[in-house]
Formats: sequence, C-alpha cells, structure tokens
Amino acid sequence: MPTQARRQCIRCQAALVQPGRRGRPRMNYHSDACRRAHNRFKTVLGHGIEHEGLPLREVSALLAQFDYSVSHSTIGAWRNGDSMPSRASEGLVKALEWILRIPAGHLVRELAGIEEAVARLQRQVARRLNVTSEDDRLITTAVRDQCYIRTSLQRTDRKIWQRVVAHREQVDRYWVMYRVEGGRPARIKAGPNCTPGELLRGGHGVCATELRFLKPLRPDESYEFGYLMSYPHSDVEDLSIQRSVQAPLEHLSVAVQFEPHACPRKLSTSTWLRTDAPPEETAERCLSGRHTALLNLSNPDPGIYGFSWS
Ligand SMILES: [Zn+2]
Repeated sequence: MPTQARRQCIRCQAALVQPGRRGRPRMNYHSDACRRAHNRFKTVLGHGIEHEGLPLREVSALLAQFDYSVSHSTIGAWRNGDSMPSRASEGLVKALEWILRIPAGHLVRELAGIEEAVARLQRQVARRLNVTSEDDRLITTAVRDQCYIRTSLQRTDRKIWQRVVAHREQVDRYWVMYRVEGGRPARIKAGPNCTPGELLRGGHGVCATELRFLKPLRPDESYEFGYLMSYPHSDVEDLSIQRSVQAPLEHLSVAVQFEPHACPRKLSTSTWLRTDAPPEETAERCLSGRHTALLNLSNPDPGIYGFSWS
C-alpha cells in the first residue's frame, strides 16, 4: 500500500485533488464507482489466473501471441490491484479474457467509463419507458441467436429472434442495449414483426436501439420479433460468441456458422454459472456438415452460455 495519497485515480487517471467526504482522503480512487470497478477487475483477473494455474510469465507469453507486449510484472501489478490497464487497452484485456477463460466482456467493462456509460443509458431508456426497470413491462421467454462468422467480409452477422411476454398494458416496444468491444460500430436492423425506432448513443460505444412492435400488447400476451445485428471484426479475430441469461428463460438456442474455408481448428462450448469461477462445463464440439455448431437449452439456469474457438 502506498503511504502517500496517489495523485491519480488508479482506474481512470483523474487527478486526486479533493479529499473524500468527511475530510477523509480517498487514497487511490476519485470515486466509489472507480473503487468498485477496480476491485471487481482485480478479483476477476486474480481468479482467472488462479483457476487456469498459469504462471504470470506464461500469461505474458500467451498475450504476445496476440501481439500484445506486457511484462509479467505488469500483469502481477494488475492482479495485485496496484495498477490497472487503461481504457485504450481494450483489445489486450479482451485477449486476457480469452486466455483465462473469463466470460467475454467481464474484464473489459470495468475499464474506465464503460460501466458508467451502460448504467447511464439504462436510466435514459427507463425514463423513456416510464419504468424503473425493463422487467416491469416485459420478460423475454425465448431467444434464438444465429451467428454467421463472415471471415471473408471481416464481419459477424447475428440474426436474433426473441419471444417476450408483456407484464402490463400497452407494451409496444423493446429496447436492445449493445456494445461491441473495441468501440467498433454495430448496426441493428429491425426484422420480422418490428420496425426501427430511436437510436440512443451512450459514451464508449454503448448504444440502445428501439424496436417498435406492430401492435401494443395486453398483459400476459406473448409476442415474437427479430432483428439483425452486424459488427466488424477486430484485428485479433473474434473468438467467441456468448449469451447471458439473467432471468428464467424457457428456451435458448445459439448457432454459430463458419465459412467453409475458415472453420476453427478447435471449438468448445462453455457455461459460466458464476462469473468469478472458470466455466462449469466445457466440451469440445464438432462442426456439422454445414459448418455449424449448435447449442439448444431448455430452461437454462441464469448464467452465460456460448462458444469459443481457435
Ligand atoms: Zn477514477
């Protein structure tokens, strides 16, 4: 622990000039949000390194394979909470997630600003809907996600189909919140049974798109609609597709289709029922004759489900 107050916040590098409330100086952070995000970052990273049983030099060598040059002592400082990668290191942090089998986005979102941007946009959407939380108006009961990894076009297209049930009168729209890591632009196109509405842009690449239903729903009425989401690949090719299940779902299906000449050498399914632990279940999978891998789950427990490949 440093004996003197730092001059910069560990997470966001804001200058630390003001003492905290009640005259108590905040030693390392300029805000509670930064303190919480940094604690989560070092905890998740520490668990990942521990679970994979990798020496720090090995982690450093694996990062070098992704063209990131980071010394083992820097990684040690991140793990110990003495420092944190900057917002600009998102690609590197994404590679760390993949190496340590941490669900995609779980380290990245703790980088300065991202988590706050998500929360701000969620509040903005809730105000527009006049609710405190989206769950007050509708719940999603089934999701089908068909992902096409278009290596030759350097792009992923996901056709998403969703079934929702209204919880109250006059539910007539759904807001999709999304962010593609690395600040890459993602495009959403309304598909069957919905039309495009407003687009809200938060900071750090966080966006929300409104999909308007063709008619307002009555309480307990269910409705099916679809949309297409496309985003460009990063320099380090995208190596996973995941879906998070937060509330009980009747059905989840995720299919990933590759181009015939660009099939992965190794592909596995991973399930995280807790994000501070390694995947509970991983299984190597074979691709079907149509170069597709499929995951079909009924009543999945809350968690994160998906595929990763190399
Ligand atoms: Zn800060």
